Amino acid sequence: MAQKRDYYEVLGVPKGSSKDQIKDAYRQLALKYHPDRNKEAGAEEKFKEISEAYAVLSDDQKRVQYDHLGHASFDQRYSQEDIFRGADFGSIFRDMGFDFGDIFGSIFGGSGFGGGRYGRSNRGEDIGYNLEITLEEAARGVEKEIQVPRTEKCDVCNGSGAKQGTNVSVCFKCHGAGKVQNMRQSGFGMFVQVTPCPQCRGRGRLVESPCGNCSGSGLMRKKRKITVKVPSGIDTGNQLRLRGEGEMVTSGGEPGDLYVIVHVAQHKLFVRDGDDLYRVEMITFPQAVLGAEISVPTLDGPAMVKIHSGTQHGEAIRVKGHGMPKMRGYGKGDLIVKVGIVIPEKINSQQQALIEQLAKEFNSEVTAKKSKFRL
Ligand SMILES: [Zn+2]
Ligand SMILES: [Zn+2]
Repeated sequence: MAQKRDYYEVLGVPKGSSKDQIKDAYRQLALKYHPDRNKEAGAEEKFKEISEAYAVLSDDQKRVQYDHLGHASFDQRYSQEDIFRGADFGSIFRDMGFDFGDIFGSIFGGSGFGGGRYGRSNRGEDIGYNLEITLEEAARGVEKEIQVPRTEKCDVCNGSGAKQGTNVSVCFKCHGAGKVQNMRQSGFGMFVQVTPCPQCRGRGRLVESPCGNCSGSGLMRKKRKITVKVPSGIDTGNQLRLRGEGEMVTSGGEPGDLYVIVHVAQHKLFVRDGDDLYRVEMITFPQAVLGAEISVPTLDGPAMVKIHSGTQHGEAIRVKGHGMPKMRGYGKGDLIVKVGIVIPEKINSQQQALIEQLAKEFNSEVTAKKSKFRL
């Protein structure tokens, strides 16, 4: 498969573009490449590409994730269906006089899209939740209780939207479907346009007297406590998907999903890079020259680490198995100790005498070495 192009590049907009800029760019490209207008070879592919880019960049949640994860990881997490789910092509295409349902049906046909799922889908929005955990928690795995505000069924009317004791009837205009079809003439021919039913506003039901608690919407905002199991080895940017924990919708639609986006806080002793941890240890000049054994903190407590004689400033010592657990597969990464050599800023007279003596010793050595080289 060909490498996918960056979504911003596909739409020809800079990274920080506003939603309106993105919409404008898409609208212009869609006019150019729409299969009803452009029959050239490759136009349909191009239309697919810009539509996918727009589906992601017009959705705040998906855009943040795309920016954060980059193309490859984003694609691993989102199927084509996920990418297009909830994207609003309806209003754009209506303005242009295209029937969006048919286009996507024919282009993406067979890829798992049901008719009429684009535009106004009857599925709740996904929710993103940022969860910060410590490096220790990421190493061991942790259960966290989080509070997520979301739209849920109204307690009072149990989601019907009707005042207690009053009737809810099936909408006479759309017979409960929530949408109506209109024939529409445009510059490019006749189209069947599907729009939300104006009588019941897409709900499929008519309420005699609305519920006072939710003003007839059948929904209310609630804070929900959810326990999230964070697996060991998790890293910043990893996401946990909790199916059905997103926003709820009325009239029997399925709820969206909750994405818990994990951030591992900076640690004061270690810097993480993938499965490996890094740390700097300072040793003295004699330790570097003669070799030594030093105590180094690890996530599992202090460990003794051998410094070989002749260790150089900046040299890395790998302490096997003291890194982070691998999320996929077994085992752990390593702790990499970068060694620095301390030069004392103050010394006493005895040290001074010893170092002067050493200096004389070294001078003759260096002079001897130098003589072998020609500059
Ligand atoms: Zn209610
Ligand atoms: Zn209706």
